[in-house]
Amino acid sequence: MTKAKRIFVSNRLPFNINSKTGAIQRGSGGLVSALLGVHLDEPFFWMGFEPDKKIAEQLIAKAGDVNKKLHLRPVVLEKDLYNNFYDGFCNDVLWPLFHYEGSHVYFRRKDWQAYTEANRIMAEKILEVANPGDTVWLHDFHFMLLPAILKDANPQLKVGFFLHTPFPSAEIFRQLPVREEILKSMIRCDLIGFHEHSYLRHFSVTIKALLGVDSGVFKAEIGSHTLKLGVYPISIDIDDMREKARSPKIAELTERFRKKIKSNFLILGVDRLDYTKGIELKLRGFSRLLEKYPDLRGKVNLLQVAIPTRINVPSYMKLRQEVEQLVGSINGEYGQPGYVPVQYMFRSVSENDLLALYRRAECMLITSKRDGMNLVAMEYAVCQSHETPGLLALSEFAGAASLLAQSLFINPWDEDSIANALYRAFTMPVEEKQHRLQGLNNILSKYSATQWAESFLTDLERGSPSTVRRGVDISPDHPETLREMIEKFRSASRKILILDYDGTLVAIQDQPLSAVLSDENKKLIKELGREYQTYIISGRPRDFLESQFSDTECTLVTEHGAYSKKAGDSEWQSHLTSDIRSWFPEVKRAMEEYSKRVPLSFLEVKSASIVWHYRQSPPAFAEYQAKKLDDELQVGLANQPVTVTLGHQIVEARAVECNKGNFVRSLLKEFPDCSVICIGDDVTDEDMFKQLGSKHVSIKVGPGQTNAQYRVKDHSEVLTLLELLKSQPTLEVRNPDVRQIAAESF
Ligand code: UDP
Repeated sequence: MTKAKRIFVSNRLPFNINSKTGAIQRGSGGLVSALLGVHLDEPFFWMGFEPDKKIAEQLIAKAGDVNKKLHLRPVVLEKDLYNNFYDGFCNDVLWPLFHYEGSHVYFRRKDWQAYTEANRIMAEKILEVANPGDTVWLHDFHFMLLPAILKDANPQLKVGFFLHTPFPSAEIFRQLPVREEILKSMIRCDLIGFHEHSYLRHFSVTIKALLGVDSGVFKAEIGSHTLKLGVYPISIDIDDMREKARSPKIAELTERFRKKIKSNFLILGVDRLDYTKGIELKLRGFSRLLEKYPDLRGKVNLLQVAIPTRINVPSYMKLRQEVEQLVGSINGEYGQPGYVPVQYMFRSVSENDLLALYRRAECMLITSKRDGMNLVAMEYAVCQSHETPGLLALSEFAGAASLLAQSLFINPWDEDSIANALYRAFTMPVEEKQHRLQGLNNILSKYSATQWAESFLTDLERGSPSTVRRGVDISPDHPETLREMIEKFRSASRKILILDYDGTLVAIQDQPLSAVLSDENKKLIKELGREYQTYIISGRPRDFLESQFSDTECTLVTEHGAYSKKAGDSEWQSHLTSDIRSWFPEVKRAMEEYSKRVPLSFLEVKSASIVWHYRQSPPAFAEYQAKKLDDELQVGLANQPVTVTLGHQIVEARAVECNKGNFVRSLLKEFPDCSVICIGDDVTDEDMFKQLGSKHVSIKVGPGQTNAQYRVKDHSEVLTLLELLKSQPTLEVRNPDVRQIAAESF
């Protein structure tokens, strides 16, 4: 048997071919060192787009020179398609939107089509090498449609996704015209990782608002699928960078810069010239420093390295102009003979120069408006020496702020905040700087890029936590499990069927009174009632259940077990022992108030329980009010013999004896030798599932966590299953395998 392998997917491969020597080279950046650093026993694949066919071929041939186990799979996209995918959709829609820059978003349908097509092509290539059980780790917003395509084709793949940018607030994300398509794919992942907790929170709120999917801090249960969520701040190759920064070569270069760049206090900025980086805010903050603290004029300098990016895009050209004008005006205003306050470079620098600049500068200033993480902040901290420690002034809007707690934090939108932080940095005693640096290094030493990658992969490849009870799928698509279940039931001498009503035998309806059985299904229940000892157990009142099942041989159990009546009996038997008068009027009053407050919500008053329904009300508003009512009742009725639950679009208060679990317990006591099949969809059915344990068959209908052993998708699958339980199946069963089971069972 072949072992599971790992497949990493990023937009571009972080490898290239040296045009002079023809050798394969590892690109710079955290991702490549992170992923090459993880412990890998098996061969691993790295896939990414590569426009040049010839380079693609060389990369495939020479991958082993980097790492014997590495297989590179460059995917060649036709140029126009790549441009529309990358420049058009990724950079003109997702990048600005995820960084809260709505005014930079240009949505064009053709770019979206290119995005869809690029994802489809990449999926095709992945599926050529991926086997069930393999891990696919997708990197960044370029591949948000891949999870659904991969899972549809191969549900056994472990699909992880890491977002290297922020995930914006739901209010921003909802502007995206293709929001549902993207989210519906994302939730198919097994794990999604974010740099920062707030990004995860925004994602949770967004899938709730746009897809109605509930999620917690760690996961979302969507049907039988668990989507895990996690926070994994990326890091850099700490050891490598620290070693390089301390090398004699960098020391010599630093010395050279010290002589060349004359400044008592050099503030460094290293950013791509992108509107998210807030370079113009940095310049305004620096200008404010010179204005507010005149004694600093002539003593402090700002060296801004602006790395060219997307240079032909008009908005980037405009930004460059703005930045360069600001540099000119600051130098014009505060410059003196021999003193140029801002030095500005519009180009990238070599790694050696960068490390030497990090060491040369007394302070690093980062003013990102939004930034997924910001690696420059980490690099600067790691390169400092204890003897001449530099200070990190960091925007609170960069993901790195959540990790680098010993930085001087600034709000880049506030010029005074920048100016004050810089003044503080200028006047800070060396001991405090050393103390802060020590704190930063303590964190970074324990958190390298490799650890980042390993913790993500561990969470992705680990099975679902044992605490998550999910129920085995016995949809007709899983005939083996279904057969096993039916055989188990049939082998018992006394067979008991316990069936919930709403959501189990009928679909949930806006109006409770319209949730009635069809004639065909009534007949089915009637036949089952004749064949098995059958209980219909529901939260419904007596009249309603009688109207549905009066001519069957089923025992009816109403109000979650408070009352029962055997077929043929004229009287209902009460199972109540406590006094409901102690809480009933109070709850009724509270619920009546909420009925007035929430349009189209209403009360259902029964004998031992009272329910507030809001299924027709405006959902978000009603849900909020429901939580509030639940909270009020839970607190107010803490010492009363009443149970309050928040169910499917209801809040229900019922006498403690109204508990389906209690009813099932007494049933098991009365018939110890019985075999039970129990089916239900709501939280109240979980009490029954718990009582039944593993000796009997319990089946959850629909999504959500459960104590049941099995699961079916919806009420129509329940009816198919019940049809199979009859000794003479009559229904046209849609799955041929299931028909086969039916035939074999008799
Ligand atoms: N960097 C670079 N060329 C340069 C200067 C810096 O490649 O001329 C590197 C820098 O060392 C850092 C990366 O670019 O690793 C920038 O990462 P960051 O997270 O700070 O910002 P991004 O550009 O990814 O938004």
